[in-house]
Amino acid sequence: MSEDKRRALPSVDTLLRDPRVLELMQAAPRNTVVGAAREAIERSRKRRAGPPEDWAAEIAELVAARLAPSLSRAINATGIVLHTNLGRAPLATAAVSAVHAIASGYSTLEFDLHSGTRGSRADHGRAQLARLTGAADALVVNNAAAALVLALNTVAQGKEVLISRGELIEIGGSFRIPDILEKSGARLREVGTTNRTHLADYESAIGPGTGAILIVHRSNFEQSGFVATPDPARLVALARERGIACLHDVGSGLLLDLARWGLAGEPLVADAVSSGADLVLFSGDKLLGGPQAGCLVGTRDLVASCRRNPLARAVRADKMTLAALEATLALYDDEETARREVPVLRMLTEEPGSIAARARRVMALAPARFEPELIPGASAVGGGSFPTAALRTTLVALSPGESGAHGLALRLRLGEPAVIARVQDARVLLDVRTVLDAEVDALGAALQRVEA
Ligand SMILES: *Cc1c(COP(=O)(O)O)cnc(C)c1O
Repeated sequence: MSEDKRRALPSVDTLLRDPRVLELMQAAPRNTVVGAAREAIERSRKRRAGPPEDWAAEIAELVAARLAPSLSRAINATGIVLHTNLGRAPLATAAVSAVHAIASGYSTLEFDLHSGTRGSRADHGRAQLARLTGAADALVVNNAAAALVLALNTVAQGKEVLISRGELIEIGGSFRIPDILEKSGARLREVGTTNRTHLADYESAIGPGTGAILIVHRSNFEQSGFVATPDPARLVALARERGIACLHDVGSGLLLDLARWGLAGEPLVADAVSSGADLVLFSGDKLLGGPQAGCLVGTRDLVASCRRNPLARAVRADKMTLAALEATLALYDDEETARREVPVLRMLTEEPGSIAARARRVMALAPARFEPELIPGASAVGGGSFPTAALRTTLVALSPGESGAHGLALRLRLGEPAVIARVQDARVLLDVRTVLDAEVDALGAALQRVEA
C-alpha cells in the first residue's frame, strides 16, 4: 500500500461515529464492535488493495465472524451414518434431555445422597454397562483411544504386548495402534504375518517379559482370501494358561445384533465378553449411538486397577457425557426401543420405503432449476464399522448445469444450516438416510436459498 493510502486510514473513533457501525452495537457487545473496527484497520494496513470500499460493511462482516461459533449445526446428506467429521452419532432425544437437565444445574456427579458425602463419578453407567455386556464391571472414560491407553498402561507398562501383524491398524485421525501402544508405556511385540496369524505364533512369543495379548478389531477394512486369525476364545485360554491378560479392542460398541438388516461381521460386545477377555474396549459414539466416550468392561480386578490408575483421572468422562451415556444405555433395556430411539440404529435399520418417502418430500421442496430426480443408491455405515456394507437407499439427484456440481455443493455447505452432500459426475446427490425427519423443511429451505 502506498504511503498516501496508509495515512488516509481512519481512526477507530472515527469509524465508531459512523451511524451504521453504531447500529451494530444494538446486536453485539461494544467490545466486539470495537475489536472488529480495529481488525478492519489492521487488515487494510496489510492488504495490498488498501482500505475497503465500505468500512461499515467490512466491520459488520467481522462482527458476524466474531460472534459465529466455529462449531455449528450441519445437515448430513451424505448418507454416511457415523460420519466422523460430522460428529459421529447424533444423540437420542432422551440423551439430549439428560444432558440438558444435568448441564443446566448441579448434579450428583460425585455425591452419595444416602451418606451425604463424596460419591464416585465412576459409578455412573457402571451397572448398566455390566448388565448389557455380561461383564462383571465397567468404567467410562473420555473416548476409546483413551480407554486403550489406560488399559495397556494398567496391564502392561514396561512389558511386551503381543499383537498380530494383521491388526496393526490405523483408525484415522492419526490414531495408529503401534503408536498408541508405545505411548501407553507398553512394548509392541508383533506376531504372525499381515494375512495369517496362528495360535502358535502367540504361543512361541510369550516370555517372562510379556504382559498381555491385545486383539484389535480391524474396524475400517476387511481381509479376505488366504487369511487366518485365531478365535478370541483360544487366545483368552492361552493368556490364562500363561498368566497374562487378554484385551480386546472391539472398536464400535455394537450391543444389538443387526444381522437381520444385512449388517454382519462386526463383533458384538457381549460376544467379546463371553469369549472371556479380561478387558473389552469400545467407543460410546459409534454403533452404540451415544456420546463420545470410551467404555472398558471386564473383570472386577482389572477394571478396579484401571480405575485406580492415575491416568484414569487424566482421561475421565465429564458429566454431560455420563448423562448422555446413561440415558442412551437405558434405551437398550428393550431392543425395539433402542432400534427406534437411538438415531444411529434407526438410520441403519430404516426400511427402504421409508427412506424413499423422505426423499420424495425433499425432492418436492427442491427448486425445479436443479431438475431434481430420485435415483437408487447406497449408504455407508462409516465410523470404521461394517466397512463393506452398502445399504440400499434413495438419493435426490440435483443437476446444477453450467455452475457445476462442486459449486452447488460448496454453496450448500456455506449456507445456514450447512448442508453436506455428495458430488458424483455432474450431480449433487442428497442421501436422506441421514437427514432427520425434523430437518427436511430446513433442507428444503436451504435448497431454495442457494442460487443456481
Ligand atoms: C474407532 C476405534 C478406536 C477409537 O475410538 P475413539 O472413541 O474414536 O477414540 C479404537 N479402536 C478401534 C478398533 C476403533 O475402531
